Amino acid sequence: MKTNNWVTKLVLSLAATLLTVPAFADEYLNGIDWKEPALVVPGEPGAPPSDAVVLFNGKDFSAWKGAENWKIENGAMVCGKGDLRTKEAFGDCQLHIEWSAPTPATGSGQGRGNSGIFFMDNYELQVLDSFENKTYFDGQAGAIYKQIPPQVNATKAPGTWNVYDVIWKSPRFQADGSLKSPAAITALHNGALILNHFELTGDTPFHRPPQYTKHADRLPIRLQDHGNPMRFRNIWIRETKTPEAKQGRKPFLRDDKGVEKTIE
Ligand code: MG
Repeated sequence: MKTNNWVTKLVLSLAATLLTVPAFADEYLNGIDWKEPALVVPGEPGAPPSDAVVLFNGKDFSAWKGAENWKIENGAMVCGKGDLRTKEAFGDCQLHIEWSAPTPATGSGQGRGNSGIFFMDNYELQVLDSFENKTYFDGQAGAIYKQIPPQVNATKAPGTWNVYDVIWKSPRFQADGSLKSPAAITALHNGALILNHFELTGDTPFHRPPQYTKHADRLPIRLQDHGNPMRFRNIWIRETKTPEAKQGRKPFLRDDKGVEKTIE
């Protein structure tokens, strides 16, 4: 009965292991009094959670400035002459935005399906028809313009919808105007990670190196007019913040009888 011997050995071995582990271990408690996280009603995939600010729901430009020459067609805003800026200003945030390049595709490189999402009016996450359209890599869809390419090219064909989900952390400045901490961005393009907490080296102009210049804590989101009739829809944003807390007491241990011990 070889099998039985093997099973018996296994059972004995497990029992021996269990006997060497104490039945109860001390619990670590960090002593922090956290504020309870707010309740949020989630939306269906892609739809805004209950605490989101809806910037475009397919109907009007009420959340935007500069839309005089843009239009709305089939629930999407269509880029016209001039950049669009949100009326409201934002700092740290989570942004969901969907975009579609014109069809049939015309032009090439930077001249094909170009727009951009400027966080805080200054820092461009590139929007470009990068579907079978080569350009310099730190200028293709999902790049932080002239700073870093996306990790992958997940662009869908023109005429279909691309989705960006972005986590933005604002730069912080000292009172004297110097940089305290850089901006950072994490982004997914159609569900694929393209930027993973990338720390920006400054703003994103075409004609000079990036630089930081002290600005307000909150500034508008800007959508770029680069001369192509790009489409946008389902745009929503959530302000993000660090959970509030105070250190109520020093971290400590508690055993299974509720007896507390200090951590040496
Ligand atoms: Mg652009």
